[in-house]
Amino acid sequence: MCYAIPGKVDEINGRVAVIDYFGEKRKAYVDLIDDIKIGDNVFAQGGFVLRKISDEEARETLKIWKEIFFKLDAQDKKLARDPKNLYERANAIRQKHQGNSCCVHAIIEFSNYCRCDCLYCGIRRGNTSLNRYRMEIPEILAAVGDAVKLGFQAFILQSGEDIYYTDDLLVEIVKEIRKKYSVLLFMSVGERSLDAYRRMYDAGARGVLLRFETSNEKLYEKMKPNDGNLLNRRTNLIRCLREMGYLIVTGSLIGLPGQTAADIMKDIKMTADLGAEMFSFGPFISHSDTPLAGAKAPTLKKILDTIAQARIMNPDAKILVTTALETLWGLDGAKEALMAGANSLMINVTPQKYRKLYDIYPKRFGTDLDVQEHINAAIDLLKSLGRAPTDLSVS
Ligand code: SAH
Repeated sequence: MCYAIPGKVDEINGRVAVIDYFGEKRKAYVDLIDDIKIGDNVFAQGGFVLRKISDEEARETLKIWKEIFFKLDAQDKKLARDPKNLYERANAIRQKHQGNSCCVHAIIEFSNYCRCDCLYCGIRRGNTSLNRYRMEIPEILAAVGDAVKLGFQAFILQSGEDIYYTDDLLVEIVKEIRKKYSVLLFMSVGERSLDAYRRMYDAGARGVLLRFETSNEKLYEKMKPNDGNLLNRRTNLIRCLREMGYLIVTGSLIGLPGQTAADIMKDIKMTADLGAEMFSFGPFISHSDTPLAGAKAPTLKKILDTIAQARIMNPDAKILVTTALETLWGLDGAKEALMAGANSLMINVTPQKYRKLYDIYPKRFGTDLDVQEHINAAIDLLKSLGRAPTDLSVS
């Protein structure tokens, strides 16, 4: 919301600045802003400095934070003491390596049209019973603006693979948002050309959310039929995007029919190999208007085991509590995930009238919640666990 804590620029070496937070030094890239200098107060997100703030704003924010930050930190450390089982071990590792910060990103789903026909997904093109929608630039800008007012600084722009949005139009969307708001933008628009992603990067996007869905090639081809979809093509794209400088959010669906425990371990390894800065493993939830209608969802234990294993193998990763997890097990499930190694959340800020139509699986968590209510619930949960809804993270 990332009530990001302001930091002070300590050093600048080319593209990288060293930022001081209450004595803790972190690195962040400075290429998204102009004329930064030593001594400036700044907000950084995901390793990028997003904007400078005045001394006064910094002082005010820090006053609020200073007191609460150390209290939360002490609570988090207490809860992470004496780990005994797998989840507690994962939580202790998260605490030691990542501290109590938890990023809370906003997600805007701007189109539910999709040219793909993935067996698991409710917005597949084969689902003819779904009403489709697209948001135009002014609506997207208004949605970002509303969420910025609520405190969000990082956004995921997600859609089906909708070619109505040409490369030019996607670039335009990024440009317009970045012109008006100093936010960190993640694109989640599926497979596009490297040139398109290069242009979105140049326009100011710095993250990509693109899951490889499953590391099992055979299962991948079964789940994504007749699009000529190949797992290798997708993972190669993710690798190239990482090389381009994008922050990568990736991962897989847990509980797909035919997936084995060994597949899930491979999913964790593949996520790490792809250089993900955020890992995203969510339960598969069947949708009645898809070929997988009626298939069973995985157990919460399976998801928590995946999160915990991922954390133990990747102490420095961010690990997401997915909306799909919250859909099946609510905020209690989210709490268990946060206590088993997870440390990131997303809040859906898509305009209410469209939210229900982004129907990838039924009854998505947050669909009927007012955004402010959702934020309050998320913050209460985080605070009860000693987590700070902020993102100090940097490489
Ligand atoms: N077009 C984008 C966004 C796809 S929707 C892309 O290709 O990346 C975002 C994610 O929703 C997908 O990556 C998939 O993992 C997840 N999803 C789709 N159907 C689902 C289902 N039935 N249950 C759980 N997650 C699902």
